[in-house]
Amino acid sequence: MKYIYRFEEGNKDMRRLLGGKGANLAQMTTLGFPVPDGFTITTEACQAFYDNNNQINDDTLTQIEAAIAQLSEKVGKQFNSPTNPLLVSVRSGAAISMPGMMDTILNIGLNDQTVEVLANMTDNRRFAYDSYRRLLAMFGNVVYEIPEGVFDQVLEDVKTTHNYQSDLDLTVSDLKEIVDQFKDLYVSKAGKVFPQDPKEQLLAAVNAVFESWNNHRAQVYRRENHIASDLGTAVNIQMMVFGNAGEDSGTGVAFTRNPATGENKLFGEYLLNAQGEDVVAGIRTPQPISTLADTMPDLYNEFAAIAKKLEFYYRDMQDLEFTIEHGTLYMLQARDGKRTPTAAVKIAVDLVDEGLISQTEALLRINPDSVGAILYPEFDEAELDQNTVAASGLPASPGAASGQIYFTAESAKAAHDDLEQQVILVRQDTSPEDIEGMVISEAIVTSRGGMTSHAAVVARGMGTPATVGVNGLQVDYQNRVATISGEQLNEGDWISVDGTNGNIYIGQIMTNDTKVNDNLSTILEWSKQESDMGVYANADTPADFAQALKFGADGIGLTRTEHMFFKPERLLEMRRLIIAEDAKEREAPLAELAKMQQGDFYELFRLSEGRSVTIRLLDPPLHEFLPHDEKEIQKVADQLNIDPNYLARRVDALKEINPMLGHRGDRLAVTFPDIYEMQVRAIIGAALDLLDQGLIIEPHIMIPLTGSKAEMKWVREVVVNQVEQLFAKKGAKLEYTVGTMMEIPRACLTADKVAEVSDFFSFGTNDLTQLTYGFSRDDVGSFMPEYIKKGILPADPFQTVDVDGVGELMKMAVEKGRFAKPNLPIGVCGEIGGDPKSIEFFEAIHVSYVSCSPYRVPVAKLAAAQAHIKLNKKKDVMANLVKN
Ligand code: ADP
Ligand code: MG
Ligand code: MG
Repeated sequence: MKYIYRFEEGNKDMRRLLGGKGANLAQMTTLGFPVPDGFTITTEACQAFYDNNNQINDDTLTQIEAAIAQLSEKVGKQFNSPTNPLLVSVRSGAAISMPGMMDTILNIGLNDQTVEVLANMTDNRRFAYDSYRRLLAMFGNVVYEIPEGVFDQVLEDVKTTHNYQSDLDLTVSDLKEIVDQFKDLYVSKAGKVFPQDPKEQLLAAVNAVFESWNNHRAQVYRRENHIASDLGTAVNIQMMVFGNAGEDSGTGVAFTRNPATGENKLFGEYLLNAQGEDVVAGIRTPQPISTLADTMPDLYNEFAAIAKKLEFYYRDMQDLEFTIEHGTLYMLQARDGKRTPTAAVKIAVDLVDEGLISQTEALLRINPDSVGAILYPEFDEAELDQNTVAASGLPASPGAASGQIYFTAESAKAAHDDLEQQVILVRQDTSPEDIEGMVISEAIVTSRGGMTSHAAVVARGMGTPATVGVNGLQVDYQNRVATISGEQLNEGDWISVDGTNGNIYIGQIMTNDTKVNDNLSTILEWSKQESDMGVYANADTPADFAQALKFGADGIGLTRTEHMFFKPERLLEMRRLIIAEDAKEREAPLAELAKMQQGDFYELFRLSEGRSVTIRLLDPPLHEFLPHDEKEIQKVADQLNIDPNYLARRVDALKEINPMLGHRGDRLAVTFPDIYEMQVRAIIGAALDLLDQGLIIEPHIMIPLTGSKAEMKWVREVVVNQVEQLFAKKGAKLEYTVGTMMEIPRACLTADKVAEVSDFFSFGTNDLTQLTYGFSRDDVGSFMPEYIKKGILPADPFQTVDVDGVGELMKMAVEKGRFAKPNLPIGVCGEIGGDPKSIEFFEAIHVSYVSCSPYRVPVAKLAAAQAHIKLNKKKDVMANLVKN
């Protein structure tokens, strides 16, 4: 079995066998770049190690001997040579990079004799002993598992004793003393001595790398990331080059493009007279790579040329490690570089322009979620470094903001309106009554509730950052104080909220605003060319819709009409309507609301410029609009000019045990058709008004909570009758459709029948998931996290579609629906409509559109394109299978 490949024998496509680091070192060698000589022990040797009772097998041992002999011959250095000793590094590298694996050991081959030879050879005793103490620390840590900190402490102590500022101040005698102390530590901490024989050092290091593949941390990581545990790791043995050989030497790391902005310009840092990880370890402040152009111009140009060629070869931005030894450049590592979302988008677009990758490849390279991240404001990194996280909760709505805290919607609104403050609403939880305070808040924080709580849903809809269910936050309404992890805060105090990761900070932090830039527009344009899935926005107000259009929405997939009733003067009319005892009493408030709604619809239609707009009729339980506690009831009674006792009785009469399963959705239409009739008149009336002005609108009217054909048929007739009456009255006509939400399992099971009376379907995944699983989405917070932690649920089904259960119902509904009506448009308008993983599934079952909050529109567009590309690839594979 061939267990060893010299660097000249491999290439970048051999990751599985040589690991990522080995394959890339081989590739750079093959391309003729200056890589210190060496070889890779394969992942198969690692597997053989485990098959051989955790011992390196004889075959591998023999091949290591031979490879060392060959290397010695080639570079003219030998282990233990009294004139020119061979020193190597031992570097682990698996096919998939993993934290928790063994670190690299440098300077193997040094011992009490060769350190002196090295000192004489280079005429640099300090360098020789500096290398030796590094070997002792790394070897002790990796092979004997003595904590790194123990060695660092010795170094620190010596520096303190002599009052040194930097490692560079250490003298030869200091370093010798450190070496002696390190050797003592081997004895006291591990009961071992440092092996003087280089071959023994080498084999112990290889052994440690193989062992580290199965250490606890690595196993846990593999399990969590679904990485096979029998892959094994490779080991690279490479001749040392020395960045710590003097002031004409150094070590550095560089990216071929700026990893923060994507700018096509070398970006990196280096340190003179330093070795290995010194740059990243922050031992001294490194120099920016651009200064190398002045100090060592030839070397800089050589490096820049290599960087360009590597990009050309790998067709992506590279992260490079290099070392300079006495003015000569050596390449030590290349890999695809990590980057920010902004950089990812810019680099992908630039690489297409440069002809290195295709459009589809560019689309596949960008993580859709990261596109979302580009659009939200973020805290300034430098400022963030000065702050510590005070508490954290669920990242309910992304974005970052600072503001002064208030505990009630009224006080928040007053501070905002009268004092012109930037405010943050901090509450135990929110309800529709808080909406005014929510609208003007920079961010929303609650101590209770989950990702689909009222606060979370509303905040996402408005694009306002929110962190909900914050552990360690208590809000005391009575005394008007909040406690965050022990610290007391009063109204008016500043906090900063990061809804992207759920973190909360005390005090003010500056944010950087971000928006759709040219590169992102390009990506969205390409996405559209790739996919025919419609991406619409959930938008309740003209402001939401305008935002969504800026983000490229194809129209509105869901307007929740109830959200239009949250403005104070409307809430009042709505309440008047709800507490009314008969149709007669409902007339006046209905007339008022009709005027306001027609205005809203008019605005939305006007903005649409003919794009599709889908409006859902009233959905929530009416009780949600009513005041609950005594104080509120008194206040509302005053506003309505009625007896508080009467109001209290009405509130009580409308109370339901299970409101989410109660009197809501189209059930309201069956009992009080006049409310839906009013909404229909407002919708069609607005469209007719625009028709007068020459804008042709085809309103899509959506009925929530349908459970059966008979029910849909009944409600549809109510709608159609109103429309026809209005047409007759106005003497004008237009096209319109009446479709249904699919959110009750029974509707999915009977979708063929429901389709007979529906012009379109739109899955409401929140309710459908709630009803399929029997999970109350307002109460999942108390047990769902445990389910996920214990692996009973793979993910929150309200965030990513449950393919096996809810997905199966959806698939059935699509098939049955299209069986009855082949061209039936079918959408998804729940929270999940903007989730990339779910979109992949929706594409597979031929959903025709998704609708999501405005900020998710770009994410969904890219995700839809990716889903389409991947699915077509799969089809290609299948077609080929059939052909062969
Ligand atoms: P990691 O995977 O943690 O980056 P590496 O194997 O890349 O570990 O090595 C750690 C550091 O040591 C890097 O800065 C690398 O460039 C440097 N290094 C590794 N091998 C050699 C060598 N043969 N000569 C000089 N420096 C080396
Ligand atoms: Mg490295
Ligand atoms: Mg619903």
